[in-house]
Amino acid sequence: MLITGGLVAGESGGRIEDIRIEGETVSEIGPSLVARVGEMVIDACGMVVIPGGVDVHTHMDLDLGSVRSTDDFFSGTVAAACGGTTTIVDHMAFGPRGCSIRHQVDVYHRLAEDKAVIDYGFHGVMDHVDGAIEDELEELSREGITSHKFYLTYDKMISDYEVIRLMERARSLGVLLAVHAENDGAIRFLRDKFIRAGKTAPIYHARSRPPECEAEAVGRVAMLAAMVGDAPVYLVHLSTGLSLDILHAARLRGQKHLFAETCPQYFILDESMYLRDDGLKYIMSPPLRADTDCEALFHGVCGGDIDVIGTDHCPFFYIREKQLGKNDFSKAPGGIPGVETRIPLLFSLVSAGRLDLGRFVSLCCAQPARLFGLYPKKGVLAVGSDADIVIVDPSIRKTLTRDMLHENTDYSPYEGMDVAGYPVMTISRGEVIVNDGRFTGDMGRGRYIKRGLPDFS
Ligand code: MN
Ligand code: MN
Repeated sequence: MLITGGLVAGESGGRIEDIRIEGETVSEIGPSLVARVGEMVIDACGMVVIPGGVDVHTHMDLDLGSVRSTDDFFSGTVAAACGGTTTIVDHMAFGPRGCSIRHQVDVYHRLAEDKAVIDYGFHGVMDHVDGAIEDELEELSREGITSHKFYLTYDKMISDYEVIRLMERARSLGVLLAVHAENDGAIRFLRDKFIRAGKTAPIYHARSRPPECEAEAVGRVAMLAAMVGDAPVYLVHLSTGLSLDILHAARLRGQKHLFAETCPQYFILDESMYLRDDGLKYIMSPPLRADTDCEALFHGVCGGDIDVIGTDHCPFFYIREKQLGKNDFSKAPGGIPGVETRIPLLFSLVSAGRLDLGRFVSLCCAQPARLFGLYPKKGVLAVGSDADIVIVDPSIRKTLTRDMLHENTDYSPYEGMDVAGYPVMTISRGEVIVNDGRFTGDMGRGRYIKRGLPDFS
């Protein structure tokens, strides 16, 4: 296959070039490649050709005990592909209390293998740290699981003792620790106080998890990591300017292995959404923030301290699961859909001249691939890379609505927003799997990726 005349995007910007694909791999990139007999030619003149998106924060088929997120590995990866994402790394649900990391790895291989339509990996998850868990970090690393997540809130959180112990081991192995950083005690105190006072509306979800809650935990993680010699830590879904200030200061003090993710919702939407009649749609943790936080995050996205844009894709139906929070915000499952809208929303910022094209590729493709051991197979268009390629038509203007999306839920948090530029073709390992918004691949075609060690350079 030959893709001709497109603006081929990488971290340093775009160049008009042709791309040859042989089998599943990019075999040649250059100006004016000549089509061979029998070669399929795709004319990409006027188009932007980007590396397939890499979303390292999704929750497909997430089992929360009483409810499950409503996209499984089929519907969720079809949605991802239609939105220009060709690789996900999924954050697993907790298993039975005290279980091994392996327990959930086995569960997730079964959930994904016959369903996923794009390539996928998993982050490990743990609710305790002991010698057996430490040994699993090493063992699972050989099976391609080179990142693991822990939480500083919720009932499966781990203690500071466990965190620093884990960090020391992870550092020596070169694996990356992802952390959900919020202060558990403050959240419980504030939530109980509001609920006792009858303040149960969605806005109190945000009030019970103020910015300081996140920033305190981010600071603690940074300090703990410093104490064991700059352990590698990846802060998921940062949502406040205060957290970015703390991160920035830690980096100035010399910590080179602190990495930060945010998600589109944290700089595109704000906490006024909780005041709407359908405020339950926006219950997620951390919550949406004030517009000043949106500005600070967007600054971090454009050229500052944010390394990666993920989505935290975790959909529920508004008319069904979200209604559990009708009389008490704390009963609603947290999470919103987003895996399909990440690339269109971010590309729109490129179209508007607010985000550099190279920076867009770095945030959405290259840097997540590097940090999670996927580069240069994924995240870049280069000779020898997997032919995961998305063709974006920058002239398309669309209004996002639930009905045009493939996510299995009854709403989009971005309903009614205009986007400029949209993916028109998605190629995964040399196969066209989305053409003009229509999925044309087969269920289960996606492959588990045995990831390498993270690249912190
Ligand atoms: Mn989280
Ligand atoms: Mn999450």
